[in-house]
Amino acid sequence: MDTDALKTAARMLRDARRIVVFTGAGISTESGIPDFRSPGGIWSQYNPDDLTYQKFRSHERYRKLYWEYDRARYPPMRDAMPNAAHQAVVEIEKTGRLLALITQNIDGLHLKAGNSPDKIYELHGTVREVTCLDCNARWPREEITDMMDREGIEVPHCPHCGGPLKCATIAFGQSLPADVLQEAFVHARACDLFITIGSSLVVQPACFLPLDAKRGGASLILANLDATPYDQYMDVVLKGKAGEVMDALMKQHRLLQGEVDAR
Ligand code: NAD
Ligand code: ZN
Repeated sequence: MDTDALKTAARMLRDARRIVVFTGAGISTESGIPDFRSPGGIWSQYNPDDLTYQKFRSHERYRKLYWEYDRARYPPMRDAMPNAAHQAVVEIEKTGRLLALITQNIDGLHLKAGNSPDKIYELHGTVREVTCLDCNARWPREEITDMMDREGIEVPHCPHCGGPLKCATIAFGQSLPADVLQEAFVHARACDLFITIGSSLVVQPACFLPLDAKRGGASLILANLDATPYDQYMDVVLKGKAGEVMDALMKQHRLLQGEVDAR
């Protein structure tokens, strides 16, 4: 690990007043949830083209396939535990300087780790809930899946309006929730430190968040395993596994805080 980069990042963290953390699938791989690009994951069993919002809307056959896929991907997410990188974000919130925690993840691990719900902006929704596409009613996921199991239902429909029920995540071809996205960009422009953890920064429009933060005057830290198209704009790149890198960063930060407190 690059100790100079780590020390620079720790100083930025100590001096920041308004921090935004932005996470992607890479923060959860050490919790056992594969990202999109790993081989052998769920994407080797299902074709993303069959799981688009448009297909879900178009035919019962695709709704059935979607629910099959959804029920296969859920148990590993339900059973996963947060790792050191999620814990680091909780520690950042405890400093009282976290403006927002924006995530592309649907696994709910930031909540499980202990970040406050009112700080979390889930750009791609959550697997923990099910929603009606027609009337927007929402249920805790288990309420619907228990009913499906009990009554042998393959494709559930809304008890209020009969509309199709779908997991409250954003499918391919479905637009992101405008209010959540807008608030995420407002926070990105208002922060003075923007930390990206475990994102390939290729999925639009979320990948524009770091640059918007920079335009607003923020410093940028990236903690990621592989290079991204935005590495050149980062003030510090911490290359490595999110859990290890963030753990080391928080240790360094505590050391600096110790210096401050001892003065
Ligand atoms: P991505 O799959 O495009 O990229 C993940 C990035 O994380 C890669 O650049 C990779 O190098 C890096 N990475 C992998 N393991 C890492 C580790 N241990 N430490 C640090 N970095 C690591 O993910 P994305 O940028 O979030 O965007 C793709 C989409 O994936 C999003 O739409 C998201 O909803 C979806 N997704 C979410 C989950 C989840 O909720 N956990 C899982 C799979 C996919
Ligand atoms: Zn409904």
